[in-house]
Amino acid sequence: MTFAFLFVKWAERSEADRMQLIDTHCHFNLPPFAADYPEAVRRAMDAGISDMVVVGCDVGSSLLALEMAEKYDCLWAAVGIHPCDAQDATAEAVDQIAELAAHPRVVAIGESGLDFVCDGPSRQVQRTAFEEFINMAADFDKAFIIHSRQGETNTEVLELLAQTKSPQQRVVRHCFTEDTALLNDYIAQGCYISIAGNVTYPGNQELREAVKAAPADRIVLETDCPGLPPQSHRGKRNEPALMVETAAKIAQVRGVSIEAIVAQTTKNAWIAYGQPI
Ligand SMILES: [Zn+2]
Repeated sequence: MTFAFLFVKWAERSEADRMQLIDTHCHFNLPPFAADYPEAVRRAMDAGISDMVVVGCDVGSSLLALEMAEKYDCLWAAVGIHPCDAQDATAEAVDQIAELAAHPRVVAIGESGLDFVCDGPSRQVQRTAFEEFINMAADFDKAFIIHSRQGETNTEVLELLAQTKSPQQRVVRHCFTEDTALLNDYIAQGCYISIAGNVTYPGNQELREAVKAAPADRIVLETDCPGLPPQSHRGKRNEPALMVETAAKIAQVRGVSIEAIVAQTTKNAWIAYGQPI
């Protein structure tokens, strides 16, 4: 694959090219990629990752995500404020995110959600920001990306979803790391389940059981890079090119071909992010 491929418009791509992997959640907009993200984009394309969604964590990184998505046809943006920074979701900041949200290269609002592990804002502040952003996603007809950590947090996220999510709304539960029962709870709310590189870690057998049981039309893949590298690169910086290892593990766990996983998760990702397939 040549570097020129990066600039080929989506509509001009061949059928085969459209059936490559999509990284639904990466952070090229964070400092570890500041010096060399174009090379990481190229390595991703060479590895068969056709598209990547760069996800914002605050106003600055959301702006940067959109700048990247305007520059590279293979990059898309999500804009939002991370729950650990929810105290910064002031009326002014929310307005700034809403201005970005209308842009056609923005496919989702997020990452939002709840996180009671980080040493951050109060639960109420996080809940208020969650409601603000899920409503914004509905207003702009964009997907909503949820970050959530640990059992108790998931209970509150599911409660909030039940109260705020409209039936047609597209929601991605990012970096799902828990078990089959919780996966089914999110499926019952109509969510997509995004699986990251930690599915390859030997200790995560419960997660693999959940991935095995998940409905095929609900799974999408992500790196959450620079964090969470797959097993072969633990301790190093993660990047989208390494997602092939995650896809191969999921294929093995589900007893299907890697081609089947590529085709299914890519189709799911385009539907989740509201793009034509
Ligand atoms: Zn993230």
